[in-house]
Amino acid sequence: MNHTHYETYQKIAVIRLDNAPVNGLSHAVRKGVVDGIRQAEADSSVYAIVIIGSQSIFSGGADMREFGTGAVIAEPNLRNLIGIVETSTKPVVAAIGGTCMGGGLELALGCHYRVVAPAVQLALPEVKIGLIPGAGGTQRLPRLIGLEAALNMIVSGETVLSDLLIATPLFDEFVEGDLLAGAIAFANKVVAEKRPLKRVRDLKVSHSKPDAFFMFVRNSVGAMSKNLPAPLKCVEAVEASLTQSFDEGMQTEARFFGELCLSSESKALRHLFLSEKNTAKVEGVSPEAKPRTIASVGIIGAGTMGSGIAINFLLAGIPVTLLETKQDALDRGAKQIADYFAERVTKRKMKPEKAQALGALLKPTLSYNDLSQVDLVIEAVFENMDVKKAVFERLDSICKPDAILASNTSTLDLNKIASFTKRPQDVVGAHFFSPANIMKLLEVVRGVKTADDVLLTIMQLAKKIKKAAVVSGVCDGFIGNRMIARYSAEAGKMLEEGATVQQVDKALEKWGMAMGPFRMGDLAGNDIGWSIRKGISQQHPYYKWPSSELLADKLCELGRFGQKTGAGWYSYAKGKREALVDPVVGALVEAHRKEHGFTARKISNEEIVQRCIFALVNEGAKILEEGIAQRASDIDIVYIFGYGFPPYRGGPMLYADHLGLLAVQRAMEGFARNDRVDSDVWVVAPLLASLASAGKTFN
Ligand code: NAD
Repeated sequence: MNHTHYETYQKIAVIRLDNAPVNGLSHAVRKGVVDGIRQAEADSSVYAIVIIGSQSIFSGGADMREFGTGAVIAEPNLRNLIGIVETSTKPVVAAIGGTCMGGGLELALGCHYRVVAPAVQLALPEVKIGLIPGAGGTQRLPRLIGLEAALNMIVSGETVLSDLLIATPLFDEFVEGDLLAGAIAFANKVVAEKRPLKRVRDLKVSHSKPDAFFMFVRNSVGAMSKNLPAPLKCVEAVEASLTQSFDEGMQTEARFFGELCLSSESKALRHLFLSEKNTAKVEGVSPEAKPRTIASVGIIGAGTMGSGIAINFLLAGIPVTLLETKQDALDRGAKQIADYFAERVTKRKMKPEKAQALGALLKPTLSYNDLSQVDLVIEAVFENMDVKKAVFERLDSICKPDAILASNTSTLDLNKIASFTKRPQDVVGAHFFSPANIMKLLEVVRGVKTADDVLLTIMQLAKKIKKAAVVSGVCDGFIGNRMIARYSAEAGKMLEEGATVQQVDKALEKWGMAMGPFRMGDLAGNDIGWSIRKGISQQHPYYKWPSSELLADKLCELGRFGQKTGAGWYSYAKGKREALVDPVVGALVEAHRKEHGFTARKISNEEIVQRCIFALVNEGAKILEEGIAQRASDIDIVYIFGYGFPPYRGGPMLYADHLGLLAVQRAMEGFARNDRVDSDVWVVAPLLASLASAGKTFN
């Protein structure tokens, strides 16, 4: 199949990009454009050339399917293709509709003229995968829209609407109707008027106070992009468009691009970009399975999670029926939702009419009968199996056939919850993270009986509500919480061995975690883990808890649940979130060490980071080999979007891959020699050991 098409319309040759879904500039497309230019140059009846995608997309840029393969740099590479376009002996017009991004925009900048449809989305988003535009974007865009506007686009990677750039020389003509017809008409005009070949490279860039401007930009970008080399390289490359000749600037850009391609940060960000797309592929699902239609949602429980979950659906324009048992709880939940929309309006993030319309999609109720016709119900009531049982039995008797029944449980056995109904195939876990309207992660828990179409429905719906959905099998804590339990336990053990709460948090935050484990515990509520431990102790009275867990219990026995009680591992001033060191905790830790015979030793920050992060990795490997996670990259996505893992490290599994699994295994074996180890945390996962000995990686 051809991914470009060549046609002539009298004097005008048209090269049409045709590479679904986004007209990615694959090798075949690049070669097709070069062949088209050559053919047009050789044809004496052709006077000008139009390059066009479709009305809805010019090009989304590089073809991601080629990433990691030789095809991405095979000749003609994008730079050389654009050079050939720019040096064409006949005028080349880019006809831009819909979306024009990355390499697609760079190709358009290499054309002599650009005609544009209304409201085209333009972006050079390379910085988001740790790169800079590598095919002239940093040199040509400033020549057309000015230094500052170009720098904003390139450093942020954000999308800009073409309508905002109509006053710049970026566009030569605006086409309201049929884009191809408009572009051909414009090309004929260029020919008739004998307009010259307008090459962007010949334009000059200027700025009234370049030194002060770049000093300011360097300071602010540097401060905002710690640990990420790409944003500052964007600044330097754009600066080269001012201080160097076009050809020198192109060389500078190429050098930075090459360096960044090899950087671990960009590798990590590219891994995440592709991994996020992969999560949607669900293994073992019948090809015949089709997602069900979800036009309305019911939510049970209007507490912290229920209200946040409701906001997601309202924002997507899906009506929500919110159910509670008591009027005051219902009112509280409804108010929380109303406050959210009011705040959006106050902050000018949403028009009042829109907030009003979306808010009106909420129907608070105390009656289960109101759930009889909804397509999906998400339960978010107390984390207690008896309460869940009552709710699911009720739902089973009330909801229409084919309604999907989802639970937001974070710790309970989903298979058991499904067994409370006569339709376990319709039951699935939808584990949102708190705050549910902000956190991007959604763990979709696949019960043993969950039907394929139910799973597909939730995965598709997740996209609609802008979540990164990852499928997890059923186990204690699913993927994320099962791993974090190992990480937090390791942090607790280091307190016993001699570290302080703030040393552990600082070491991990400096390494890149958004929040250290103790600050995270204080935010989530230390009582959650406490109540889980109490539940386990009730079921298994002879279970011997590691002593570090007893320390966490002691903290809770003092009522120090975290931010919500004003004290936890830290203390908090009323209404403030700043974590203050509290001598009470130091004394508690000290007494605990004495009681359990620990002699405090000096623990390095490196040991803190390695023990916490490798505990995640080892548990991740176990989760992978048990088939709880479908792939290592899914685990990485869970950690990036649910637990504040630094994106530039690519997630715990990719991080381990980068270090080398053999090195990780050896470090774990070293930790296992610690005579205070009181759990199986450092029993190396067989999968990790076998990959390490074969010299392979998780990803
Ligand atoms: P919450 O205590 O804030 O809210 C629970 C709500 O459910 C309360 O408003 C309560 O009145 C209502 N409720 C209780 N029984 C009910 C019933 N039979 N019918 C209708 N409503 C009922 O709790 P939460 O933090 O929102 O947690 C809810 C669920 O979400 C739990 O399963 C929890 O494990 C899970 N979860 C919580 C978090 C979190 O960080 N809070 C994160 C992920 C998942």
